[in-house]
Amino acid sequence: MTQPKLLLATPEGLVLEHPTLLAPVRSGDDLLLADEPPIPLPDCGGRLAHLPGHRPIGFNPKTGHLARLDSFEIDGRRFAPNVVAALLPPGYTRTFLPAAAKVAPDNLPQWAYTAAGWGESGPVVFAVRTDERDHWNSSHFSTPELQGRVDALCARLPNNGVVRHLTHCALVERCFTAQNIFYGRDEGGLPSSNTCNARCLGCISERRPGGPPSSMSRLDDLPTIEDLAELGAHHLTHATGHAMVSFGQGCEGEPLTRASELAEAMRRMRQVTPRGSININTNGSLTKGLSLLLDQGLDAVRFSLNSADPALYGAYYAPQGYALADVRRSIGLAREAGAYIALNLLSMPGVNDRLGEVERLRDLVVEFHVDQIQTRSLCIDPEQYLALARGRGAGGDPIGVRAMIDLLLEEAPWLRIGNFARGLDERAPRNS
Ligand code: SF4
Repeated sequence: MTQPKLLLATPEGLVLEHPTLLAPVRSGDDLLLADEPPIPLPDCGGRLAHLPGHRPIGFNPKTGHLARLDSFEIDGRRFAPNVVAALLPPGYTRTFLPAAAKVAPDNLPQWAYTAAGWGESGPVVFAVRTDERDHWNSSHFSTPELQGRVDALCARLPNNGVVRHLTHCALVERCFTAQNIFYGRDEGGLPSSNTCNARCLGCISERRPGGPPSSMSRLDDLPTIEDLAELGAHHLTHATGHAMVSFGQGCEGEPLTRASELAEAMRRMRQVTPRGSININTNGSLTKGLSLLLDQGLDAVRFSLNSADPALYGAYYAPQGYALADVRRSIGLAREAGAYIALNLLSMPGVNDRLGEVERLRDLVVEFHVDQIQTRSLCIDPEQYLALARGRGAGGDPIGVRAMIDLLLEEAPWLRIGNFARGLDERAPRNS
């Protein structure tokens, strides 16, 4: 297999190919030459980014050794080079991290930094396509007609506070499930809560001490039951494609903290229409709350977790008044209720693919007959997360993210791996 060439960047962000060094990758604390071929940088939404305060580590094919690059000269100018990483579009899962030496104390912003290099015909990345469905392709979002769609729905539901909040999400944060509400199609987001009973290290809606700014601003005003029910019923009645509404968006806390109100909102939606799917993205902490929603006909639940190991889960989520055992009870309850169950697996190469971690996750999938795993490349400074994960969890040597996926699919033949929620008409078991 031809290894890609090392990329580096000037302090201004100009990306250069190193004349001789190859691009190693990182898995946990290991630096290695990848044993899988890279793929071309996806042209729809894939980007290269340079990481200030991070020096590139290359592989010297002549000496067979790794080489840290603290300075580089081009056209008579010498400078301290930055690492070049890739940012992937939705539908892909990162398989390796960039090989980097961190020389600055600040944590990087919340992105899923992916190993990149220069291949025979351009930039390449270490990733795997995990969801082929086109309706989440970023080319379908932030289109010229979006503003008109936003204006139209705001005129149609002028007093709806959720619509007002989602206007910001759609036009400023460019959130896909917010935009779907205005496009009137597929999965639409219904943010509902602004408090949470977890303190995730990489929370995307609330900044952690010492951490970078969160990538989303948390919901301020709590939506009313009336507004949630009105917008939910509107979307379920009119949406094209895989009609669905989802509680638990990136801009909010934990929706189960408002379970009784959401159950009432669902009851009102279902009074208007039986159409479409009602889903919740949750940390699964409050089993009683979840049962209220399942009793009201919730048909899909996505549980977020970084590990099926209590110690590693606890270290990342810092749960307030609950534990992984409660999450397992909630998954069991959703199974009993016949809901479609997805796991939102927060993924870090060299952590989740450690054999012990994979086996523990496999056991959970099999025990509760989980329908789908959404592999989510975790958006966090790798150093921050690896410092937390080091020495924690079910252990074992990393087998690789691709091998992790293969093992799960082999041992759970019904299981689907994907990145996006599945509509009512997309939920048949893989082996059916
Ligand atoms: S469960 Fe969600 S909202 Fe709560 S701390 Fe974690 S990422 Fe943030």
